[in-house]
Amino acid sequence: MIAPEFWSIPASNLTPTELAEKSAALKQRLLDISSRFSDVRFATSLAAEDMVITDALVKAHAKMKLFTLATGRLHQETEDMVKTTEDRYDVVIEKAYPNEDDVQAFIDQYGMNGFYDGEESKNACCGARKIKPLNTALLGANAWITGQRREQSTTRTELNLEELDDVRGIAKFNPLFDWTEADIWAYIQQEKVPIHPLHLKGYPSIGCDPCTRQVKKGEDIRAGRWWWLQSDSKECGLHINK
Ligand code: SF4
Repeated sequence: MIAPEFWSIPASNLTPTELAEKSAALKQRLLDISSRFSDVRFATSLAAEDMVITDALVKAHAKMKLFTLATGRLHQETEDMVKTTEDRYDVVIEKAYPNEDDVQAFIDQYGMNGFYDGEESKNACCGARKIKPLNTALLGANAWITGQRREQSTTRTELNLEELDDVRGIAKFNPLFDWTEADIWAYIQQEKVPIHPLHLKGYPSIGCDPCTRQVKKGEDIRAGRWWWLQSDSKECGLHINK
């Protein structure tokens, strides 16, 4: 049971027709992307938005390769969701691991949990465990997909469906850019999509274990990510396009 003071899954006021239209539009977006590009890759965190995309792309028969950033600091529940998702959808989710030397260099300089020291060390850890593995996982791709939404944070309000990822020189798509949090959960409940167990324990957003905590009712949904940093630092750098 969730203590009432924590975030909980929101109710939706979408009608069944509105939800069906949104779901159909999402599937069409994914199909359009997979028909335009020969090698599309989808980075899934196994959290709610990415589970919606997984469900939709499988049902739409959109051709994409799935991968997840196996940072070495994930919750066990996230590790377990990989297998749950593979079994449910008959897909393979490749794991993008960090380079051991990069991780060791971080630990030598900052300590295992040195990311708590401030933004610089947090960025160094995310660089080694997330960004470099992401760059490697996207080598050879000509487009990639994310589960970002405009509503999620102040840094995402300008998000569009299609962007140019200048850093990697490929197209980047945010097919849920205009979905609300309630839309996501309406889809999950309608389609009986597997739910990451931490969403049932007050976590609206899920990243690495030591850098994610529960969110109090009424707090920003990303308040539980890197909570020791200022609010404009609630990103890991994965979505910097320039
Ligand atoms: S989220 Fe935390 S543990 Fe994970 S890579 Fe970033 S700083 Fe490191």
